[in-house]
Amino acid sequence: QVPFRILRRSSTEQEFHLCLSQAYDFPFLRLEGKVALITGAASGIGEEAVRLFAENGAFVVAADIQDELGHRVVASIGTDQVCYHHCDVRDEKQVEETVCYTVKKYGKLDILFSNAGIIGTLTGILELDISGFDNTMATNVCGVAATIKHAARAMVARNTRGSIICTTSVSSSLGGTGPHAYTASKHALVGLVRAACSELGAHGIRVNCISPFGVATPLSCAVYNMQPEEVEATSYKVGNLKGIVLKTRHIAEAALFLASDESTYISGHNLTVDGGFSVVNHSFSAISMH
Ligand code: NAD
Repeated sequence: QVPFRILRRSSTEQEFHLCLSQAYDFPFLRLEGKVALITGAASGIGEEAVRLFAENGAFVVAADIQDELGHRVVASIGTDQVCYHHCDVRDEKQVEETVCYTVKKYGKLDILFSNAGIIGTLTGILELDISGFDNTMATNVCGVAATIKHAARAMVARNTRGSIICTTSVSSSLGGTGPHAYTASKHALVGLVRAACSELGAHGIRVNCISPFGVATPLSCAVYNMQPEEVEATSYKVGNLKGIVLKTRHIAEAALFLASDESTYISGHNLTVDGGFSVVNHSFSAISMH
């Protein structure tokens, strides 16, 4: 017997399940039965998203170029709801094949978390390495475009009201927070997300991005030549929001929100996960306004 107050309070199926889970104290699976493809899934933010999406009931294809690491992540989760597949996002054929693999294995594609990215090296504009610039753009922009293209094809073909999420960065709206090519690529990615959103809305497909602040992963540790604790300490020091250290889980949770039906009317959004960093100018704190 479902109590009347639960039926009365629930205007959507999602709310109904949430109320039920609260009333009967069982976990609410935000992605139950959904199929997700996550790129850059062997490490950092992508790895955390694989774990969180699986915990929330999704079937997940974890794609990356670090095959050994990717297989290890999947094995540590230990369920056949998650599998690893090699995919270099710079190669469109591999992207197309990975989307086909996902649909063949789990029957459809509801969610693309296009998260694979590289940061390149920190050099001044006067010493800019143009081939390095091309490589960053090939991964962070063209690679993501290929994933959107093929995931959207699979969604449109099956009339799936899907959710596409791309990982940008605070460098998508600010200069001086990363290498030049990286900053250019993440700015471009916001444009790509908006353009895709403008077309795919007609098919009921949402396209959003997430802009994290500095979080300790192999990517951030390598570029700044720091240990994870040093990255965290630095981010904490320069960050706006105090009393909390940014972890990959916080970013995966933002991806989970955009992937789930709880964000059902949100599209074209750049969700910053930066504790307010990108909207606050701390230069004035020197003359103490508080
Ligand atoms: P990470 O290095 O831990 O993970 C990135 C993953 O992408 C790696 O597993 C790597 O093998 C994979 N990858 C790289 N090139 C690829 C390719 N061509 N094809 C497929 N996979 C590829 O780093 P992360 O910090 O978790 O980065 C994930 C995303 O988050 C990136 O897009 C990055 O730009 C973004 N980001 C990171 C931070 C941060 O501080 N760590 C901040 C803002 C945005």
